[in-house]
Amino acid sequence: MRDFLGSRAGKQFLLLSALAACLCLLGRQSPWLAYGTFPYADSTRIILLTMNVAGLMSFIYSALRIYDLRKEMAQHRQAELRADWTATHDHLTQLPNRYAFERLKLLQPERGEEETASTPTATVFSIDLDGFKKVNDLVGHSGGDTLLKEVSRRLSGFAPAGRVFRFGGDEFIVVAKDLPAEKEDQYARLLIQLITRPIMIGGLSTQVGASVGYARWPTHGKTLEEVSHVSDVALYEAKASGTNVHSLFHPAMQDKVIERARFERKLRTAVSDNVIRPFYQPLVNLRTGSVCGFEALARWTDEDGKSISPQQFIGVAEETGMITALFQQLLLESCHDAQTWPEHVFLSCNISPVQMEDRLLASRILNICASAGLPPRRLEIEITENALIDDPELAGSIIDDLHAAGVRIALDDFGTGYSSLAQLARYKFDKIKIDKSFVSSSSGDDRHEKIVRAMIGLSRSLNIETTVEGIEQHTQLAYFVAQGCDIGQGYLFGKAMSAEDSVVYLDDHRDIMRSA
Ligand code: C2E
Ligand code: MG
Ligand code: MG
Repeated sequence: MRDFLGSRAGKQFLLLSALAACLCLLGRQSPWLAYGTFPYADSTRIILLTMNVAGLMSFIYSALRIYDLRKEMAQHRQAELRADWTATHDHLTQLPNRYAFERLKLLQPERGEEETASTPTATVFSIDLDGFKKVNDLVGHSGGDTLLKEVSRRLSGFAPAGRVFRFGGDEFIVVAKDLPAEKEDQYARLLIQLITRPIMIGGLSTQVGASVGYARWPTHGKTLEEVSHVSDVALYEAKASGTNVHSLFHPAMQDKVIERARFERKLRTAVSDNVIRPFYQPLVNLRTGSVCGFEALARWTDEDGKSISPQQFIGVAEETGMITALFQQLLLESCHDAQTWPEHVFLSCNISPVQMEDRLLASRILNICASAGLPPRRLEIEITENALIDDPELAGSIIDDLHAAGVRIALDDFGTGYSSLAQLARYKFDKIKIDKSFVSSSSGDDRHEKIVRAMIGLSRSLNIETTVEGIEQHTQLAYFVAQGCDIGQGYLFGKAMSAEDSVVYLDDHRDIMRSA
C-alpha cells in the first residue's frame, strides 16, 4: 500500500481524492453547486453530488492512468529498441555485428532498391586486416581504434547501408547483393585498395594490409551463415598466401580445413602423450674439431611409423598455442639428456617467435633448467629475427633476464630476415648462426662469398661467435674454416640423433677436420 501511495499513480489517487473531498464539502456549503435548482431533498442532493464528484474523479484518474500507461509503453519500446541496437551493433564502429548478420534478410529489397524478378544472389566477403597488431603497437590502442573506425567508414561508404559488418577484432564482412560472378574479383580488389590506403593517426601515416575471402549464396551454402563460414575458409587460404590477397571459395579448400583440424587433433594427442622427442645435431668447433654442443631438434614419428617434419608441426603448434607445452617438454627432456654429455658440451634449443610474447618465458626456461639440474651456462637459446619484431621491448627484457642467469643467446637463420643488422645493433647476442642458404651458394658465387665474409667479419668485430649451418661437403667445410668461422653444423658432421646415439657419437667422434 505504501508503495502504491508513493508511486505516481498513488499520488494522483491521493490528489484526486482530496480534490473530490473539497468539491463535496464545497457542494454542501453551496446549494447551487449541489443541484440547488432541482427539487430534491438535501440528503439526495448530497448523495448525487458525491456520486458525480466520484464519477468525475474516476474518469480523470482513468484518463491519467491511460496516458501514463501509453507513456510507459513508449519508453519500454524505446528501451527494447536500444537494447536490440546494442546487441546487434559494434560499439566502436557502430557497424552491425554478427547477430545482425544472422538476421539479414536478403530476399527483401532494402530501402531504395528495386525488387527484381530473378532469384536474388549474394556474395559474402570476409575481410581480415594484415599487420593490424603492429600498427596497434605503434600508435597505441586508441590509435588502433581510430584505424578500425576509418576502415569501417571507408567500407560503409563503398557498400550499401546495412551490408557492412564488424565481426570483432579486425574482421569485417561485406555482403554484395546480386553481384555478377565476373565482377566479384574486381569487387574484392577494390575492398583491398580501400583498406590499404594510408591512414593518418595522430599525425603519423599508417597502413595496414587486407586479406579477402569470398563465397556466393546460394551456390556455396544454403544460408548466409553457411556462406560466411566458407568465405572464412577462403579468407584463411588468402591469408596463408601472403598479404593483400583475395580468393574465392572452392570446395577443395574445405577439405584442407578438415585435414588441418584432423592434424591439429593428432598433434594435440602427440603433445599430451609426449610423443614428440628431442633429437640432437652435433655442433663442431671448427678450430679444434671437437664437438662443443648439440642443437635439440623436435622429432615426431606417428603411430604409422611416418616421420613428420618440424616444418609441418611447429607452425601449427604455434598457431594453436600448443608450442609452450611442447617446448617445455622438449626442454626438460633435453636438459636431462645434456647431463649425460661432458661438462663442456652445451645444449642449444630453439624457441618460436610466438613464445617471445610470453612474459614468463625467461623464468619458465630457468625453472626447467633448475628442476633438471642443468647449469644455465650450459644452455643456449636460438631465436630467429621475427621473434624480435612484434614486441622489441619484451624481447629485450627476456634476453636480458636469460643473459643475467648465464644462458647464451644465438640469432638463428641469420641473413634470412629483413632486419638482421638492426637486430645486431639492438640486442646483445652471443652467437649468430649463418643460415644454410649461404652455405650451398657460397662457393663459386662471388657475391655470396663477399656477403659471408662480411657477416663473419662483422660478428668478429662485435665479439660475437659464428656458427655456420648446413655444411654437407668437405669443400664447404674447408671454405668456412678458412674464413675463420667458429662452429660448424651440418650433415657432414651428423644429422640429428637420439640421446643414446649422441653419447655414442661423442665417444667415437672421428676427427672430420683432419680429413678436410
Ligand atoms: P633450425 O633451427 O635452423 O634448424 C636447422 C635445420 O636445418 C634442421 O631442420 C636441421 O635438420 C637442418 N639441417 C642441419 N644440417 C643440415 C644440412 O647439412 N643440410 C640440410 N639441408 N639441412 C640441415 P629441421 O630439424 O627440419 O628443423 C627445421 C626448423 O624447425 C628448425 O630450423 C627450427 O626453426 C624448427 N624447429 C625444429 N625443432 C624445433 C623446436 O623444438 N622448437 C622450435 N621452436 N622450432 C624447432
Ligand atoms: Mg636452430
Ligand atoms: Mg637455423
